[in-house]
Amino acid sequence: MNELITYKGRTVPWVTRWSGEYVSRPVTLMAQTTRDTRTGDVATELRLVFEDDPYAVRDDHDFLWSVDATARAGEPEWRQVNSMRQQASMVRLRCQVCAARLPAEMTPWLLGRGEFDHLIANPESTTLTPPTCQSCWNIAARLCPWLRKTGSVRCIVDRREIWGVHGDVYQPDGTAMEDCRVSYGHRRATRLLTLAKQQAVCLHGLRELL
Ligand SMILES: [Zn+2]
Repeated sequence: MNELITYKGRTVPWVTRWSGEYVSRPVTLMAQTTRDTRTGDVATELRLVFEDDPYAVRDDHDFLWSVDATARAGEPEWRQVNSMRQQASMVRLRCQVCAARLPAEMTPWLLGRGEFDHLIANPESTTLTPPTCQSCWNIAARLCPWLRKTGSVRCIVDRREIWGVHGDVYQPDGTAMEDCRVSYGHRRATRLLTLAKQQAVCLHGLRELL
């Protein structure tokens, strides 16, 4: 376990967003014409961009990420996760409470009872809950009001598959469908119109540690 972050004597999970980390960046739709360097074909695509930086870097799957700051200024927003740290926890496998590095196989995970039951019944479904190291299981179960209410399940996962993202999908008319999950395999036109906020993963070989 790494050293824990505290605020006024209370442990703050590593992934929690702080009030000073929220960044408001208006988005807009932009038509962009691209030329295929191999075939020479020209195509026009509609894509979601930041108003203040239309050519901001997208990830390898064409998603535009909502980028939170990471300076831990202000006070913890207990119900919110920092998009950058949530992504790092899922992709680089770091404990969501203490940021300790975790193994890519036989990865420890702590889930609420309801989510665990859902994932067992629907193995192809995805989760936004990052992993938690075994040393932090007791702390997380005690600290998180939601886990206290539903009960927590101590799990081991054979491996996690980075499935896609959770975020808002914009329509060509500029309206947004909020809180959608979009896979890496989804059609490019949709990925280009998605504002990604969290990483969604699929947990293979999920089981309760008895
Ligand atoms: Zn930990």
